[in-house]
Amino acid sequence: ESVIVAIDGPSGTGKSSTSKAVAAKLGLSYLDTGAQYRAITWWMLRNGVDVADPAAIAAAAGKPGIVSGTDPAAPTITVDGTDVAAPIRTQEVTSKVSAVSAVPEVRHVITELQRSIARAAREGIVVEGRDIGTTVLPDADLKVFLTASPEARAARRSGELKGKEASDLAATRQALVARDAADSGRKTSPLAKAGDAVEVDTTDLSLQQVVECVVTLVEE
Ligand code: C5P
Repeated sequence: ESVIVAIDGPSGTGKSSTSKAVAAKLGLSYLDTGAQYRAITWWMLRNGVDVADPAAIAAAAGKPGIVSGTDPAAPTITVDGTDVAAPIRTQEVTSKVSAVSAVPEVRHVITELQRSIARAAREGIVVEGRDIGTTVLPDADLKVFLTASPEARAARRSGELKGKEASDLAATRQALVARDAADSGRKTSPLAKAGDAVEVDTTDLSLQQVVECVVTLVEE
């Protein structure tokens, strides 16, 4: 019996770490949908598409061949065969991804890709994102919505950034709040808690505690 788990929430709530650990523990596949929106954004920038022009983005939405490897121990993402795991995390891509993912044609292409990956997962899959429980997989067996205080989210994000992109806490908090606003202010806001989602506030919980909580919910 294949089990589908949707984990939604804003960035910095521990979504990726939690989703990977839950999938590994339960022997399920894992899909990072934010990485797919980042990958299509990377392709647009790479191919000279004006990301301030929604019509240009819409016209190109079907062109990049995005492939996601769903092993939670070693997730991968390629575009037309090129490994883009590193370049999709740059500040350039991060600052443009909200605009690209707001375009309906982009959401349509990526949503269909996500559904086909979920269908193909034999034992089941943990899918993390913003709109998984509401839009992509509304029939998921379990929907979790992770939250955390802005301070906790900024602290976690800061800890994730390395090298020359490492910034101080205040700057990270500001960038995070700006991306939240861009994500939720647009007409096609993806971030939403499904009516039947279980909300877990991770502010004062360790990763291990959140993972145990979600695993328990799956097994119930
Ligand atoms: O999760 P991550 O921070 O990598 O997501 C990057 C961006 O992709 C988000 O800020 C949002 O604009 C977009 N996104 C989305 N729908 C999803 C996942 C991510 O629009 N399901």
